[in-house]
Amino acid sequence: RWARGPAPGSSGARGLWWKPMTRYGFDFDSSRGTGCKTCGRGGKDYHDRGPDSLFRRIYDFEGGSWEKTSEGAWNKTAFNYHLAISCNHCDNAACVENCPTGAMQKDEETGLVNSDPEVCIGCGTCRNSCPYDAPRIDAELSRARKCDGCLARVRNEEQPMCVGACPLRALEFGPIDELREKYGDTSQVAPLPEPTTAPNLVIGSCQAIDSNTYNLDEGYIANPLEVE
Ligand code: SF4
Repeated sequence: RWARGPAPGSSGARGLWWKPMTRYGFDFDSSRGTGCKTCGRGGKDYHDRGPDSLFRRIYDFEGGSWEKTSEGAWNKTAFNYHLAISCNHCDNAACVENCPTGAMQKDEETGLVNSDPEVCIGCGTCRNSCPYDAPRIDAELSRARKCDGCLARVRNEEQPMCVGACPLRALEFGPIDELREKYGDTSQVAPLPEPTTAPNLVIGSCQAIDSNTYNLDEGYIANPLEVE
């Protein structure tokens, strides 16, 4: 059931980890993620959406090269890592603030954000407002759809589908304060935007992010067609 062991402060038994009025979020460990995209399929399939839906996008970020020194040796500046990013259920959710109909709402008990399909008119303001490009207009439904943190599963004391689906256990879900205590409070690494919306996201560093060897500023998204 758990990504990397029991939920923080919990034995995993029913009623112990589920804490109403707690802010929940995700941790993604970039030293584990291999870019396999299983997490993205897990959420999409659970919500019974088609191949065009992206509830979690996997960025392949890379840069650098191999450079020959004057002595004829080779220095490696090439790097590559992956980030699996869904809605971050932000404290200052721009999608909620800008939704013209009030369809996009933040769940009072968990802080998880989702759109009410009965109220949504599919105008796309949420997508245009979100710095993470999380909401998408589902062409078949003509409504905004995005990761809802698998709220129904969470209320049933189950992990979000993406967390359980990850074969590398790179994702963890839980009270965001406890995730930050365990893994730190980094929520912005290239190519993610500045965390102006107070995302409930923790990024665990990999060697490419931690090291000073690599120039991440010159990196690029290697799979733009998959995440656009
Ligand atoms: Fe809204 Fe985007 Fe933040 Fe999700 S990531 S809560 S869609 S602003």
